[in-house]
Amino acid sequence: MTFLFDPAPVASVAVAGRGAFAIRRVFCVGRNYAAHAAEMGNEVDRAAPFYFTKTPMHVMASGGVLAYPPGTAELHHEIELAVALGPDGRMIAAGVALDMTRRDLQAAAKETRRPWDTGKDFEGAAVLAPMSSLEDVGARDVALDVNGGARQRGNTRDMVWPVPALLGHLATLYDLGAGDVILTGTPAGVGAVQPGDRLTGRIDGLEPLTLGIAPR
Ligand code: MN
Repeated sequence: MTFLFDPAPVASVAVAGRGAFAIRRVFCVGRNYAAHAAEMGNEVDRAAPFYFTKTPMHVMASGGVLAYPPGTAELHHEIELAVALGPDGRMIAAGVALDMTRRDLQAAAKETRRPWDTGKDFEGAAVLAPMSSLEDVGARDVALDVNGGARQRGNTRDMVWPVPALLGHLATLYDLGAGDVILTGTPAGVGAVQPGDRLTGRIDGLEPLTLGIAPR
């Protein structure tokens, strides 16, 4: 069969020393750090985690520049640990990620009980640094600086739902497998970015993430 148009390129992220990880799906976890839930005026739901998704084609690589997206006056950063799954649905690698958010659109969606898609899923909305092969991500400092100033500080030990629990729960809802990426939630300190800003994200033992913000 011939394609009517050329197929879109496969979204991917590098895994150090191993090659390119082809991304099939991107799941994101909401309210997985109590301090961030509180700063957004939300309670943590200890009964079960909840999720939203991002389109794989909306992933951009660390080191790039994101043009300020349309439709928003409140683009926010959320630094997160990302984990990548192998054929059996187990974690094979982890990396630093940004869940970029059009916060004003997300807030309007919450207000009107509508879906979060336009707030969370747009071109460049998921930024991924090169990943590393890891088996344990349980107690690592997480930090995001903007223009050299501290914005977000946390530690993965403070996740409401640690990675093994997330994977166990998500596996009750989806047939997890190779190519799945999970952004595991953000610690406190989210905030707005402006054109000209330079973001640097770090998680212990992982390749740092950098992102520039350009005018629209
Ligand atoms: Mn997030």
